[in-house]
Amino acid sequence: MPTLAQIGTPLSSPSTTPWPRLVVSPLPASTVAKLPPAPPRYSFPRRFFAWWGTFLGVTLPLAGLVMGVVLSVLWGFSWVHVGLCLGMYLLTMTGITVGFHRLFTHRSFQTSRPVEFLLGVLGSMTFQGPLLDWVGRHRLHHRHSDAVGDPHSPHPHEAGIRGLLRGFWRAHIGWAFAPMPDDLDRYAGDLRRRPMLRLVNDLFPLWAVLGLVIPAGLGWAFLGWQGAITGFIWGGLVRILLGHHVTWCVNSVCHLWGRKPYASGDESRNNAVIGVLALGEGWHNNHHAFPSSARHGLRWWQLDFSYGVIRLMQWCGLAWRVRLPTPQELQRRGEAPPSPPQPNVAARECDR
Ligand SMILES: [Zn+2]
Ligand SMILES: [Zn+2]
Repeated sequence: MPTLAQIGTPLSSPSTTPWPRLVVSPLPASTVAKLPPAPPRYSFPRRFFAWWGTFLGVTLPLAGLVMGVVLSVLWGFSWVHVGLCLGMYLLTMTGITVGFHRLFTHRSFQTSRPVEFLLGVLGSMTFQGPLLDWVGRHRLHHRHSDAVGDPHSPHPHEAGIRGLLRGFWRAHIGWAFAPMPDDLDRYAGDLRRRPMLRLVNDLFPLWAVLGLVIPAGLGWAFLGWQGAITGFIWGGLVRILLGHHVTWCVNSVCHLWGRKPYASGDESRNNAVIGVLALGEGWHNNHHAFPSSARHGLRWWQLDFSYGVIRLMQWCGLAWRVRLPTPQELQRRGEAPPSPPQPNVAARECDR
């Protein structure tokens, strides 16, 4: 079984297949031998809470969108609603992309403890689950990407449009209706050993509720009691809805549609639309090829808001040891290197 340190090691041949493959060829016998056994059958209470928790997490933000539209018609439109929705989206999604993903999961840069705490709290406000579960699940995804054991791959699936839709559903949200794997803990052991990060993880419900209370309070400050309700809806529920589906699109869309300039050993793709909406996370083939790189948009035109935040933090002295792939590593994976950047630290290997 491969170790986590092997994530991102050189792969065989580059592929430039630009569009989805409807059928994924069977895994080689040597790989199958290394795969984990079939997941256990979980108890009824675990299945019950996982299913209903996900159902409410998906439907309540959707109901919020409907309520938001209705109230805009009844009470009138305000730019405060747009500002609260976009402002809270950028803040909390930065907690996911810069914090949960690039910092905690892949250690693509280092920062101070207060910044770690802040990023952990902001990411928790997205209602995407506690920090350690998120990190464990995502490391599991990289370890078994698009193979058996990947918690949310759209591959493999049957041929034809029906198979494609089933794969898409499973990768987008279907996976969340099942309980977490029992061994998820061991994938985030390094973080669990740190009391501050355990605190951020254990107080997840508090941070999540805070992500609803803050926009409600700001709405009240600008627009009175009606603003408290609409702030809760637009800066809370609708913002959560957007964050959920954009993040889930990285799992579904970015493993199906887009370009694949680098040999990553899986079906990850660069998708420009998700690249922009997910603050840089949609350059997903780049990310799977160089998992520890702080920069996902490796070309100058690949907009990567999250890397911009990391660069700004670096400029302010709040981020250091920012990891980037070397030009040689970029070339080895199949595409000529972009003009800059010179790396501070080679990004090919996870340092665990
Ligand atoms: Zn992926
Ligand atoms: Zn990742």
